Amino acid sequence: MFNLNDFPLPFRETDLVPYMSVETVRLHHDKHLGGYIANLNKLIADTKYSDMDLREIIINSSRDSDAQKIFNNAAQIFNHEFFFNCLGRGGDTAIPDVISDAFGGSSEFKEKFRAVANDVFGSGWVWLIRDNDKFEIIATKDADTPIAHGKTPMLTLDLWEHAYYLDYQNRRADFIETFLDGLIDWKFVVDNLNM
Ligand code: MN
Repeated sequence: MFNLNDFPLPFRETDLVPYMSVETVRLHHDKHLGGYIANLNKLIADTKYSDMDLREIIINSSRDSDAQKIFNNAAQIFNHEFFFNCLGRGGDTAIPDVISDAFGGSSEFKEKFRAVANDVFGSGWVWLIRDNDKFEIIATKDADTPIAHGKTPMLTLDLWEHAYYLDYQNRRADFIETFLDGLIDWKFVVDNLNM
């Protein structure tokens, strides 16, 4: 059984205002993440998945064509916990050199991230992933997650409409820009680099 209390927000609901409203944060965490957790608990009850940790559920269900719903909900739990950990008022913090260097500079990193994000059609996620010494910016569709493909995430942006619609309506590009300029907790990314 998974419990929303085991996935607490790493910041206060008011911390991201005005870039992300209290209402968005609360709905996103309590209702959307909470919903995925409630769904997953129902779906795995009395199955082989009920004894696995979240990562094991994701890996195993990704290879099980009868477990698409389990995969979707489990992956969304991982993706959301990771996303909330990426958020903060990081506007004052520089992008770590190892990342900006990999893309030819901070503005080049942002340009690449922005381009991949703006190309996402429908619901999905943008990720900075690491493969040994190589960094890459990719998008995944729907609930798909890099850890199902053996990739290690460093940073992610949720581009499902529920992530931004209350605050940005149709201006998704503004949300992407705000994320890049003011909402990333680079300390979390640095911690991922060191793992
Ligand atoms: Mn979301």
